[in-house]
Amino acid sequence: MNTFQQLGLEAELLQAITDLGFETPSEVQEKSIPILLEQEKDLVALAQTGTGKTAAFGFPMLQKIDIDSRTTQGLILSPTRELCMQITNEIKLYGKYCKGLNVVAIYGGASITDQARDVKKGAQIIVATPGRMKDMISRRLVDISKIEYAVLDEADEMLNMGFYEDITSILSHTPEDKNTWLFSATMPKEVSTIAKKFMRNPIEITVGNRNEGTDQVSHEYYLVNSRDRYQALKRLADANPDIFSVVFCRTKRDTQKVAEQLIDDGYNAGALHGDLSQNQRDLVMKSFRNNQIQMLVATDVAARGIDVEDITHVINYQLPDEIETYTHRSGRTGRAGKTGVSMVIVSKSEVRKIKSIERIIKKQFEKKDIPDGMEICQ
Ligand code: ADP
Ligand code: MG
Repeated sequence: MNTFQQLGLEAELLQAITDLGFETPSEVQEKSIPILLEQEKDLVALAQTGTGKTAAFGFPMLQKIDIDSRTTQGLILSPTRELCMQITNEIKLYGKYCKGLNVVAIYGGASITDQARDVKKGAQIIVATPGRMKDMISRRLVDISKIEYAVLDEADEMLNMGFYEDITSILSHTPEDKNTWLFSATMPKEVSTIAKKFMRNPIEITVGNRNEGTDQVSHEYYLVNSRDRYQALKRLADANPDIFSVVFCRTKRDTQKVAEQLIDDGYNAGALHGDLSQNQRDLVMKSFRNNQIQMLVATDVAARGIDVEDITHVINYQLPDEIETYTHRSGRTGRAGKTGVSMVIVSKSEVRKIKSIERIIKKQFEKKDIPDGMEICQ
């Protein structure tokens, strides 16, 4: 296995890596970083959530841009506001010894004037959600005509969320000869369409699925009557007093309802979904990161890619519509060598989905009874 030094990174970046406590590069980093540093080429990288993609594109971008210039040279598009902020923070940490580095996050729900002012000060790197980015371009508040590197992070998710038009429009304002680096967990047709349309002979890399036996997540399911779902959730929480978890619901409405019920019932819970204001979302995320909230009830979109350490349990209050999404959910736990449990509460009518998920994750579920069993189990 290579060290970060062997991948060709400069001293300022290696120092930051030491500070971060990264010992060895992850697989996606090992494969992407040398290519991105040495070759002016487009790249398509397929890797699951939690494999270290931010550093895989962040370090090469930091090394390649000219920090002495105030021109915007790197653009990173990412699907949600939370991810945008998270990536911005990470890149700032990676570049903490790059004097003069200016990374600006651009996302909806916050003041466009403030963001425009920050960009004007000279941002070498912009991290943006597609919607707000397009808005800022059309108001001529940003200039991305000299971009050298464009990253499409979580490309599958951006397309799922309907950002195709926005991405197309944004890229049409960037130079033809830039390099595009696309990162995605999965490769549905829409992603290959984007790759074909906007990329020239990209180098493709695929990273082994983290869920193939190497991770520390165990999977359990609990069969209950549909109407007992909420009771089951409470029992699971009661049986795990130190729980620190994300509870996934299918809709914003259910997310809000379950969070409110939990709070009423005396649990440390909070809701995270797209109908909340940016301020509310920031507050909830802050309380969650500080462990003041033990159960973060969230939609898939709002919780996508969120990287909070030490999540002990992922609870699928409802299974996602797309079973592929299960991988993203369970990937919230069992990070950095820790163990984690992914629990699914299912009713009889959905239990067959467990088999399909087992095929995707290539692992077996354990069927368990709701703690303190009794009448609610089937
Ligand atoms: P992804 O974008 O693939 O979901 P992230 O870039 O968010 O993954 O990284 C997941 C977590 O792993 C982050 O907390 C990050 O700081 C950490 N991380 C990234 N690379 C390494 C590494 N080489 N060694 C240890 N931790 C790492
Ligand atoms: Mg990521």
